[in-house]
Amino acid sequence: MKSKQLLIALLLLANVSFAQQADLVGYVNTLQGTNSKHELTRGNTYPTTALPFGMHTWTPQTGKNGDGWKYQYFIDRIRGFQQAHQCSSWTRDYAVFSLMPMTELVVDENKREAKFSHANEIAKPNYYKVQFDNKIITEISPSERGAHLRFSYPKGEKSILVLDGYNRTSGVKIFPKERRITGWVSNGQGFKNDWKSYFVIEFDQPIKSYGTWENKNNTIMADSLSAEGRGKGAYIEFAAGTKVQVKTASSYISAAQADLNLKRELGADKNLEQTKQNAAAVWNKSLGRVVVEGNSEADKATFYSCFFRASLFSRKFYEIDAAGKPYYFSPYDGQVHPGYMFTDTGFWDTFRAQFPLNTLMQPEMHGHYMQAMIDAYKQCGWLPSWSFPSEGGSMIGNHAISLLADAWAKGIRTFDPKEALDAYYHEAMNKGPWGPANGRDGVKEYNELGYVPYPKYRESTAKTLEYAYDDYCGYALAKMTGNKKYMEIFEKPMYNYKNVYDPSTRFMRGKGADGTWTKNFDPIEWGGPFTEGNAWHYHWSVFQDTKGLINLMGGNKNFTAKLDSVFTEPNKVKVGTYGGMIHEMTEMVMANLGQYAHGNQPIQHMVYLYNYAGQPWKAQAHAREVMTKLYDATENGYPGDEDQGQTSSWYVLSALGFYGVTPGTGEYVLGSPMFKKITLNLENGKKFVIEAPANDKNHVYIQSATLNGKVYTKNFITHADLTNGGILKLEMSNKPNEQRGLQEEDKPFSLTK
Ligand code: CA
Repeated sequence: MKSKQLLIALLLLANVSFAQQADLVGYVNTLQGTNSKHELTRGNTYPTTALPFGMHTWTPQTGKNGDGWKYQYFIDRIRGFQQAHQCSSWTRDYAVFSLMPMTELVVDENKREAKFSHANEIAKPNYYKVQFDNKIITEISPSERGAHLRFSYPKGEKSILVLDGYNRTSGVKIFPKERRITGWVSNGQGFKNDWKSYFVIEFDQPIKSYGTWENKNNTIMADSLSAEGRGKGAYIEFAAGTKVQVKTASSYISAAQADLNLKRELGADKNLEQTKQNAAAVWNKSLGRVVVEGNSEADKATFYSCFFRASLFSRKFYEIDAAGKPYYFSPYDGQVHPGYMFTDTGFWDTFRAQFPLNTLMQPEMHGHYMQAMIDAYKQCGWLPSWSFPSEGGSMIGNHAISLLADAWAKGIRTFDPKEALDAYYHEAMNKGPWGPANGRDGVKEYNELGYVPYPKYRESTAKTLEYAYDDYCGYALAKMTGNKKYMEIFEKPMYNYKNVYDPSTRFMRGKGADGTWTKNFDPIEWGGPFTEGNAWHYHWSVFQDTKGLINLMGGNKNFTAKLDSVFTEPNKVKVGTYGGMIHEMTEMVMANLGQYAHGNQPIQHMVYLYNYAGQPWKAQAHAREVMTKLYDATENGYPGDEDQGQTSSWYVLSALGFYGVTPGTGEYVLGSPMFKKITLNLENGKKFVIEAPANDKNHVYIQSATLNGKVYTKNFITHADLTNGGILKLEMSNKPNEQRGLQEEDKPFSLTK
């Protein structure tokens, strides 16, 4: 008997270790979302070859230097392989340089392009490979701050490699005997002129000849060993028909640190296969934090491709010194500091799901991040809102407080809440110098009137709604930490959403300083008082008080009818102040789900709101519909801009069966999981398992649930429930249970009781 139990235990152990070592990275397609262009986005992603949250990533380049559309699936020519950091095509990139292999020296980026086809391309997070039609093969495997590349030239052909210094200033030095190139680049909008990204490149083959060049007039200086200035680059030649392995790493701190990064991350790797294997192990461990079982291989590919993309942002912006301690070049004051720093995220997108996902699956890193935000505030006087790598102040809102309050609600204690609240108070009471989301645009009127007036301020109703939510987060953090002063300051403005609600149309509307509603209202009209959306989309931006919104609308019946209408209204667009179709409009029309515009962020939490109004089964059905209809793992795999992991994180959380509607509460609202079994392997060593054995594409409804064996009627689950470990068992059905989750205590958090 005993030996039988032992055998079962051993089998279980083997099963667990098998699950952890499974080839999850193999499910990922890094080309997901790359079939994008200015007018129509299927993700605006590039095939990122990188480690999780890695500081530097690598990608093939089809677009011109400086073009945000750096890799477009429909283009069949590659002009280089880049070090890249881009958040989205709209922001363009920074600290870029590229390498291009060729058999005749052609430096001009428009003439050196080589043809390829996707049949000869492999695109995985740990390994990218492409064979050009000219037979040159390029392979790339990543480290955190560098990459291992290999260029294989056809037999007997010249073997030349061109380094392009990109579109601003750069410097290169060639060391032929040492088989090395060192240098720096300084490019990108948020990368100041005197900042440098230092790189080092090492080759495992002798350098036969060399020179430098500049990419404005494409002038070549043969035999030159160094160059500095605008667009300066280098070229080197190896023996004919060679196969050369190339190690490279970069640093924002110094050339010496770039060397150290290379030695530490790639020094032990004798060949690219080793780097590739190491990267696969890192990714399998990272992706293995969530193991999904059951359902199709295609669904797993979608899940892990989205989880991969969710695990790229925010990017680590710190390095490890010789003593093994983290330190960083700060994009906020241009100085070097001890500790952690992160960048490349816009909170307007990512406060919704990407950071909440990190609080669950990456709490240690999230703790470092929260401290880094307070440090950024001390360095530049403002909390970050759109970091790339320095502060851009893009979009709207003051959502750093959402991250901080959410972290505290979930037990993360790496920062001083008083400092966080002081920083937020400063943010909420002043307008900053850098953009609409740096400090508070319209702060005077918001404080006097309780809303931001239109048309004095553009996108003002969206601003009012998001400020009110942020003020709730300030209130929540103050309440959790017993800070009466800030509780009093924010407890009134967190209800300011009521001031832009028009009971006659039952919509949020633009409102003038004199209290009159903006005329000629049409809920399908985009822009004006709204940000990249219309009244259908912004109606639901009352994250902190859905019950209060329900009351404003006259009760559950009106509320759920309006939720239904989002999907049943025609998918028509009025372009409004945009003056023409923007890609978000086109994507909503294409999705063919009425006014439901999942290709942009404002409405992404909406399907979960049925849980607050007595129809949770509709959240279950719609969540599954959106996952199935709008996502897949292909180059067309997103319904719009992916946006720094946010749209991917929506999928990842939704596929687990829940979504954090109100960051700052520690609650996740239930939907419908995509898989029969999901295991969360949490950082604290515990496991949370979601079991839904009858789950399939027809059985999307929760008939009944148990949490750790006890009947569970709530429409939400808490962060503590998840991190304590346990089993949520769901009986799935092809018919809704219209009686489950209807009691007041079953409903998720709202300020209004
Ligand atoms: Ca967006």
